[in-house]
Amino acid sequence: MRLSTIGCGYLGAVHAACMAELGHEVIGLDVDQGKVDKLARGESPFHEPGFPEVLARNVESGRLRFTTDPTEIADCQIHFIGVGTPQMQGRYAADMTYVDAAIETVLTHAHPQGERPVLIAGKSTVPVGTAERIAGRCAASGKDIAVAWNPEFLREGFAVQDTLHPDRIVYGLPEDREVGAQLRDILDECYAQLLSEDIPRLLTNYPTAELVKVAANSFLATKISFINAMAELCDATGADVTKLAEAIGHDDRIGKKFLRAGIGFGGGCLPKDIRAFMARAGELGVDQALTFLREVDAINLRRRETAVDMAADLFGGRLVGRKVAVLGAAFKPDSDDLRDSPALDIATRLWARGADVVITDPAAGDALRRARPDLHVVDTVEQAVKNADVVMVLTEWKHFTELDPEEMRPRVREAHIIDGRNVLDPKAWQQAGWHYQGMGRGVST
Ligand code: NAD
Repeated sequence: MRLSTIGCGYLGAVHAACMAELGHEVIGLDVDQGKVDKLARGESPFHEPGFPEVLARNVESGRLRFTTDPTEIADCQIHFIGVGTPQMQGRYAADMTYVDAAIETVLTHAHPQGERPVLIAGKSTVPVGTAERIAGRCAASGKDIAVAWNPEFLREGFAVQDTLHPDRIVYGLPEDREVGAQLRDILDECYAQLLSEDIPRLLTNYPTAELVKVAANSFLATKISFINAMAELCDATGADVTKLAEAIGHDDRIGKKFLRAGIGFGGGCLPKDIRAFMARAGELGVDQALTFLREVDAINLRRRETAVDMAADLFGGRLVGRKVAVLGAAFKPDSDDLRDSPALDIATRLWARGADVVITDPAAGDALRRARPDLHVVDTVEQAVKNADVVMVLTEWKHFTELDPEEMRPRVREAHIIDGRNVLDPKAWQQAGWHYQGMGRGVST
């Protein structure tokens, strides 16, 4: 099939490459010339394990192309929408201008021909009601263009794996059964290889498909904030949240995943998705249903200030003139994504309180230097920790979790380690002479 992906960021570029990997002819359209130039050369503009190989292989084969010229999408059967839906400045709601612009691009340049409608398949995370609105816009255009919502569940760091082997595929289809069946068949043809592997495929109406995505993210955010609330209790009582999480996680109804207490969640999805969900619930007159998400957000943001206070408390509350080595800037390991990164936020707060902050990250260093020329970014852990008064592990890169406390000890001025992700072995660090503090671990010696 001939497919287009409108928007070639973390979602769109990976989706485009993976669709080409499935054998389709794919054209990736983006408005960012620099990104398109890189992708067209087969070079990844961001850090994503496994993506460079899939990208290069498919660009080389000629099945995958990237462009800024919208006329090139003219004869595609499906147009996947993967543009951003960021939080609006000063508001909780999602900014829909990019999605609306992408839809206009398709309506202007797509040329439906033949028996089947051209399909717009929305992958971006959007407020419930968007697909219906876009379907109305398509109908008004007079072109044979239809809409399905096909939410994306990929995780950065596992994006290729998640795209080629998703847990489930959801199609949000129009109420008209005949049109719905036609659109289902088009998507089935596109995903035939995945469906042959028995990946569950759920057919829903538009609002259900849109809600599945934000409900899933809200649940995950809630689970993280739940364990972080328990961490607050652990800190107040001397309990260890890692043991608590392990113990409750043995219960299948609870499960072990997403129960790691620490400095909380971030990134380009969870924080803005729960806020946009609350905003949309307000518009729909059901804001009370989601008031708990306000608490989820508040608990999450409190973790960042807690981490800063932990560092300050080591020095009588004053950070001025103290050297803090921050290990990690990306919002999660195996990614260079700095969007709403707890690590970066904490580094910024430490800096604002007068600390001499030095940051290192295995992948996000260059992106960080570009985004934040005000911060002191170095290439290696050795450079970051040199003469540090406190070392803070804020992104759980394997590179950091495997650090040798014995080897690190002589490099610092004061041997304080704050484990913002609860990924280090307290005993090993303590035995090497470090004062170790986790988040809600009740171990501080
Ligand atoms: P991103 O910012 O990395 O990428 C968005 C891309 O869209 C950018 O390259 C931008 O230049 C491009 N763009 C903007 N307007 C355009 C237009 N009119 N035409 C063509 N291109 C345009 O964002 P992302 O992380 O890829 O997220 C995209 C969407 O996918 C969001 O709604 C997000 O919530 C959702 N999502 C993301 C992930 C993830 O892990 N990143 C996972 C699931 C869902």
